[in-house]
Amino acid sequence: MPIHMGIKCDVCQTVHFVATSRSVRLRESVEGMYRLTCQPPCHEVREFRKEGMHPYRVSDDVFKRGYAEEGEYELVQGIGLRSARVPPAGQRSARAR
Ligand SMILES: [Zn+2]
Repeated sequence: MPIHMGIKCDVCQTVHFVATSRSVRLRESVEGMYRLTCQPPCHEVREFRKEGMHPYRVSDDVFKRGYAEEGEYELVQGIGLRSARVPPAGQRSARAR
């Protein structure tokens, strides 16, 4: 299964994929800062930087949906950001300056 960069909500353990999730937005006021607004019924709001993302192994269907619930993802250890897919939002941020 493919590996994608995601951010995990510590409250409900859902992983949101930066590239496909509608819950993750790049903040325009603070450079390099993302904001995650978890989906209902959780509603947890969390701000994070690229370093806060981790690679997760998930099925294509789950990735396209934008998030993976507990048991649907597997954290990949020992893989750096460089070898994982860089989310489009991050590329856009780098080009802005
Ligand atoms: Zn949550």
